[in-house]
Amino acid sequence: MARLYEYQGKEIFKKSGITIPEGEVAKTPEDARKVAEGIGRPVVVKAQVWAGGRGKSGAVRFADTPDEAEKVAGDILGMEVKGLEVKQVLVEEKLDIAQEFYAGVIINSAREVRAPVLMFSTEGGVDIESVPEDKISMLNVDVLRGIQPYDTLNMALSLGVGGKTLRQVGDIIYRLYSIFRKYDCRTVEINPLVFTKGGKVYAADCRMAIDDAGVFRHPELGIRIGREFLKEPTEFELMAWKFEEDDFRGTSYVAQMAGESEFRKGGYIGYHGIGGGAAILGVDALNKVGLKVADYADTSGNPTASKVYRVAKIILAQPDIEGYFLAGFMMANQEQWHHAHGIVKALREEIPKRPGFPAVILLCGNTEKESQEILKEGLKDLPGRIEIYDREHVYDAKFIGGRVRALVDEYRKEKGL
Ligand code: GDP
Ligand code: MN
Repeated sequence: MARLYEYQGKEIFKKSGITIPEGEVAKTPEDARKVAEGIGRPVVVKAQVWAGGRGKSGAVRFADTPDEAEKVAGDILGMEVKGLEVKQVLVEEKLDIAQEFYAGVIINSAREVRAPVLMFSTEGGVDIESVPEDKISMLNVDVLRGIQPYDTLNMALSLGVGGKTLRQVGDIIYRLYSIFRKYDCRTVEINPLVFTKGGKVYAADCRMAIDDAGVFRHPELGIRIGREFLKEPTEFELMAWKFEEDDFRGTSYVAQMAGESEFRKGGYIGYHGIGGGAAILGVDALNKVGLKVADYADTSGNPTASKVYRVAKIILAQPDIEGYFLAGFMMANQEQWHHAHGIVKALREEIPKRPGFPAVILLCGNTEKESQEILKEGLKDLPGRIEIYDREHVYDAKFIGGRVRALVDEYRKEKGL
């Protein structure tokens, strides 16, 4: 799920006819002041990060004057919210809240449904998970039939919404579903949906995520990696995404785990796992012997040799790493000779550049016998500290981790590190 920032989602709301507070995004305290001046009323300053619960973390704050807005923005910009650095704030007119509602569309993944579900509650502004079920009105959508305006009116009506609010709320839920379809969303939520003392309904927040498989249809959203990421992708991650973007043969997943200045402190390994949980087991094996992963890479789902090769190459391109570890900690149901070929090619190109470099390879699963032969034959004359293991050590994290540690220690000693 590729996430959008609140301000991006709100731009879509505005285009789609859902009322949002007047405001603009700012990257500096001075810009925040200008936006507040333009609004000319008390404002709310909100951190733009891919995390909820900002209110409770002090990342949503109010300001009565432009001076105050500048100060508050200065406090919020640069702060960390759930481990994410705030680089932008949204400065908006402060709403005079009479009541907070919730409206959202998500995917109901229950086996008998598997369709979008519309949700509305009169208990907004809090975690929707904590709202009792009888306070939430839900409608599973038949996607072929779609929805009618009376469907969403009925949802609001069933929770006692009436008068001037009813039509506005029904209209917003109806439009929310159109947005969900048009932008291939997995999630689009408004929490809180604010009913003001002046009798108007506004989307005061927006949480929106696009289905990875639909990202390519929406270049206008500027999403650079069609995958769930906690923060903006790094250059390294963007390069690795190139292998994946147009090649659906197997999967590669590559994330940067530390910066180059960290690597120089020592103890970092170029990490290459195979298959979700097994790949995590490999990280654990390293951590238990005091080593850290420079990257987290995973090639699985029967990838081609070329995809494995490219991933191995980018792993080995990281400066100051002290080893390469292919952690195939499972009997993978994929033809492992593709991995063997890819790894051999990458190591043949890279190991001669750094004599004595440690490389521990654990590979088992289909075509294991052939894979082992390819590895042994292909790597036998290289000037590295290379060890190759098979199913005999398949879940033996302690032993394999110990071997990586031992080779890294030898290498460090030799290099005088
Ligand atoms: P979240 O905590 O990350 O979901 O951020 P929200 O945008 O939902 O803001 C958190 C809370 O701040 C909301 O539930 C509101 O109670 C409050 N809040 C946000 N905007 C306004 C506003 O314009 N006026 C008032 N009075 N409260 C607001
Ligand atoms: Mn919210």
